[in-house]
Amino acid sequence: MMLNKYTFDSKIDGPKVLFLGAIHGNEPAGAQAIFKIVEKFASHAISPLKGIVEFIPVCNPLAFEKNVRQIDENLNRVIKDWDAPTNYEQQLGKKIASYIKNSDIIIDLHSSHCPQDKPFIFSDYPDKTADKLCLAQTIQYIVKGWPEIYSSSPIADFSTGNCAHYYNKTCLTIECGWHQSPQSEQVAYYAIMNTLLSLQMLEGFPAQSIEQTLIMMDCFIIKQFSGKLAQSYRHLDKVSKGEILASYDNGKSIICPQDGFIMLPNADAAINTEWFYLGHSL
Ligand SMILES: [Zn+2]
Repeated sequence: MMLNKYTFDSKIDGPKVLFLGAIHGNEPAGAQAIFKIVEKFASHAISPLKGIVEFIPVCNPLAFEKNVRQIDENLNRVIKDWDAPTNYEQQLGKKIASYIKNSDIIIDLHSSHCPQDKPFIFSDYPDKTADKLCLAQTIQYIVKGWPEIYSSSPIADFSTGNCAHYYNKTCLTIECGWHQSPQSEQVAYYAIMNTLLSLQMLEGFPAQSIEQTLIMMDCFIIKQFSGKLAQSYRHLDKVSKGEILASYDNGKSIICPQDGFIMLPNADAAINTEWFYLGHSL
């Protein structure tokens, strides 16, 4: 199992930072941004001042080639040190887990499937380094609490973030916007540069900070029967206490428990799967 990995070593003491692109094969933004920055390092237009910078532009090569999300299963649910991987993504997951184990900071770049999707960062687990790296980004929404809402769920979450946490590493998962938008590649590009600038691994300063919205996830709603969302909600739309969010065909409604945000709404969710998530700003 070969993955193309690019390493730029300053030979000076410092953190080892790993950037991951195209964990999902149909998400080109991170990969393209990484290719551009690898080019700059390779041509010595920029060089790390300290530590080691590593890039894996395409973490799921076969899916990337076919422009599909995955081959056998969701790679971002199988990142762990498998004893006996049984399919393509599990083999990749084992390899990527070994790279995460050997790094200090991991930045995993993704994109999402709706044209209006706003960029946001998943910053899981309490981690001062992660908080500092979030502040260095020009991305408005920081979402926390994903592992907590799944902690009592039987759904296994062997994501890059989970793997990093297992090995005591810092990890941000950055959703850069819609798969097809050229802006998503820009978001990924600046996320990489601002990370390295914030860590003082490149000369200069990160972009001026923006006012960010910190959102704590509260719960996810499983679609129990057939029904529909009350509106064509988009990710990170504001919702109000008392608002009807969704209705089942049997007449029952799901009422919003408090002012906050609806996240990752899936109008086409199958019964017994995640329909949408709710959170509130901190
Ligand atoms: Zn993704």
